Amino acid sequence: VGRHQDDFRPSGFEYNGVTFSQDSFELFPGLCAVDNREHVDRTFAALAVQGLRCARMGAYKPRTSPYAFQGHGAACLPFVFESAGRHGVRVIAMEITHEKHIQEINDALSAVGQPTGVMLQVGTRNTQNFELLKAIGRQHEFPVLLKRGFGISLEESLNAAEYLASEGNQRVVFCLRGVKTSLGDPHRNLVDFAHVPVVKRLTRMPVGVDPSHSVGRRDVGPDGIEDIHHAAAQGVIAGANLVLVDFHPAPAKALVDGPQALTLEELPLFVEDMQIAREAY
Ligand code: PEP
Repeated sequence: VGRHQDDFRPSGFEYNGVTFSQDSFELFPGLCAVDNREHVDRTFAALAVQGLRCARMGAYKPRTSPYAFQGHGAACLPFVFESAGRHGVRVIAMEITHEKHIQEINDALSAVGQPTGVMLQVGTRNTQNFELLKAIGRQHEFPVLLKRGFGISLEESLNAAEYLASEGNQRVVFCLRGVKTSLGDPHRNLVDFAHVPVVKRLTRMPVGVDPSHSVGRRDVGPDGIEDIHHAAAQGVIAGANLVLVDFHPAPAKALVDGPQALTLEELPLFVEDMQIAREAY
């Protein structure tokens, strides 16, 4: 990922018609967890109205509690990819938690035959799952969205990116998503988006931010604007190349992380504000 002095390959890559680099900018709004076809379809339809071509969709969910909804897994992939293709979504960020999910995604994409692609997401809990990183690094089909580990140093998270790159996959986007502290922060995690320029300086990876999992709640400030919205704008002004953000047609019905999902009615304003923040960068 560009930390070796003898490695002068240019930064960034193209995947399925979308460019990812330290100069590019893409929004990835979508469902934290796929719950049903209707919500998937309504979400992609709302993205299409905004002219967006990337989204997030969680099929395999790593949950803290074994009793919590674990995601529909491979069962939901056919309708997710069919709907994405129908609405012109080119790239879906989708977390995987096991090597076998790569094949499941590949099979579902081939079966559906739509021109949609997947960026394999490595979640914060798996940033140091070295065998998973090596398996994702060995495959050449899909690029990777690697989350920062929430309880390890930045250096350790950047080394996780090296696991991917050293196995052969250098199509990696690094994503900041906040870090845990024991200080009783107002947000679920301490927002770390000031590290966007740091990672861009230390590596050649495009850098994304996830304001939803950083802030963790739809709290509204005295200006009437949600903290998630402010955090996203701060990340973009700091130079983020990608924003991964939870939206849901009916957050109260979401099976995972409903309290942090923005509504589809908020999407047009969110998109406009991110464009303004990008211009301010
Ligand atoms: C997610 O993006 O769905 C997610 C679980 O994020 P994180 O790994 O950052 O908690």
